[in-house]
Amino acid sequence: MRMIRIGAHMPISYGFEKVPQMTIDSGGNTFQIFPHSPRTWRASLPAKRSCDEFQIQMEKYEIPFEAAFCHCGYLINLASPKDDIWQKSVQLLIIEGRICQALGIPYLNVHPGSHTGAGEKEGTDRIIRAVDEFLKIIPDVMLLLENVSPKGGNIGFTMKQLAKIIEPTIQPHRVGITYDTCHGFDAGYDITTKEGVEKLLDEMEGTFGLSRVKMIHLNDSKAPLGKALDRHENIGKGFIGDKGFRNFLSFPQIQMIPWVLETPNEEDLYTKEIAHVKSLVGLI
Ligand code: MN
Ligand code: MN
Ligand code: ZN
Repeated sequence: MRMIRIGAHMPISYGFEKVPQMTIDSGGNTFQIFPHSPRTWRASLPAKRSCDEFQIQMEKYEIPFEAAFCHCGYLINLASPKDDIWQKSVQLLIIEGRICQALGIPYLNVHPGSHTGAGEKEGTDRIIRAVDEFLKIIPDVMLLLENVSPKGGNIGFTMKQLAKIIEPTIQPHRVGITYDTCHGFDAGYDITTKEGVEKLLDEMEGTFGLSRVKMIHLNDSKAPLGKALDRHENIGKGFIGDKGFRNFLSFPQIQMIPWVLETPNEEDLYTKEIAHVKSLVGLI
């Protein structure tokens, strides 16, 4: 059986160097972190000592860097029609890219952005320009565009919208995809049935190509199919449910991609929920 990668969004409040151990202690073998406090515009490079120690810990706990992901801050809006916000967003994204470089993390996950009323075309053009700026300045970090919930002017809730961002960029091979199951459910992708998952996989293959998907955000949904609330729920407790996830996670194409939980669940650092997901696929 191939090795399934599963883990969760880990806190950085104990230092980057603690993340590999916390991941293994929770039963995981992959993780996502914020490169800095996500609700501020401020971000600085971690100290060299912290980066060195992080790399030592990655080796000690045998987590390959391919299984390590950063998630961009919440203030970033690469689609913003306001020049000052757009500039600040691109600058912060580039600093986040530098933090990824310093830590050796090869992937930076971003939300494509919201056009905030300016329209999808204009917003998409701005995202493409922002992605190009990043690709020019940060040569060794892959940007992962995350599918979002279809609300608030968000761009990138269909596979086609995501493909339309990637294709015109200067280096499309350096732009990947994260598929978030809650956001996808909000957008009407029903992964609770075999036909639904096949349809989604076909859509991915027919647009940006399935091999571009580098991470799956594993979140159940507090809202029913097609209702765009973006409310993450613990696996099995929402409208996707254990049955839905058992179906989705049984696909070999899905098992090849790392799964990262972003559910409301910080008190035991996802230990129970990771075990629960493993039980759904017969790992334990
Ligand atoms: Mn996200
Ligand atoms: Mn997500
Ligand atoms: Zn969400």
